[in-house]
Amino acid sequence: MTAKNMIPLSTVDWYGRAATVVFLMGCPYRCPYCQNHALLEMGQLSSEPADIEEIKSEIEKNSLFISAVVFTGGESFHQLGALLHLAEFTHKQGLLVGVETNGYYTDRIRQMIDAHLVDLICMDVKAPLTRDAYLRICGIDAAKHVSDSLGLSGLCRESKIDFEARTTVFPDFIGSPQEIRLIAESIREIAGDVRYIIQQGIPEHAWKDVPERAYTRDELISLAKIARQFLSDVRIRTKESGEECV
Ligand code: SF4
Repeated sequence: MTAKNMIPLSTVDWYGRAATVVFLMGCPYRCPYCQNHALLEMGQLSSEPADIEEIKSEIEKNSLFISAVVFTGGESFHQLGALLHLAEFTHKQGLLVGVETNGYYTDRIRQMIDAHLVDLICMDVKAPLTRDAYLRICGIDAAKHVSDSLGLSGLCRESKIDFEARTTVFPDFIGSPQEIRLIAESIREIAGDVRYIIQQGIPEHAWKDVPERAYTRDELISLAKIARQFLSDVRIRTKESGEECV
């Protein structure tokens, strides 16, 4: 068991690149707004997941028209062996490796960095880095894990690995001005002046009930301006306009 499915060609998952996206299964979090909830546990799948050899053959086939593979989930590091194996295979095809992570498995992330098997790390900071906030948003106290993982950004810089932090926001749930201020301040303190993306959460794709409305582009711009007090490269990502620098 490795992955539920793949997107052969995406131009939105790695800004400026054409990439294949591989969805790896399993995640220790239970965010109510999860859009890939079928990947959280095997029992929820309606079809057989792809195995490693299928994924490799898809990557090889796509290598003619992509320059990268992005691993996401679920949580990419939940299946470390599969991730490292596929990343190594991807590099051998002459392609770059991007990984989206919720920051829970700090030691595994460090292992991948040390093995030089990753070129871009996109790390979710889903809430202010406190026990209560993480319990409320993700159903697990992961604040210390995420804080430690953000601390790996220095190692990424030394290893020339691109690093960005991200928060997905929903009105009246996560992403108030005060929460964005706390998150951006923590990112600056722990990770330094890294790129920060505020993503528009889409309620209709959510696993469980979250407030029905999505933030508007203008609201996201206002939130980004708050984050800009701490970080110099802040962007928003919306369904209608994609990624924009603020
Ligand atoms: S961390 Fe991501 S995959 Fe895991 S439950 Fe949250 S949104 Fe879903």
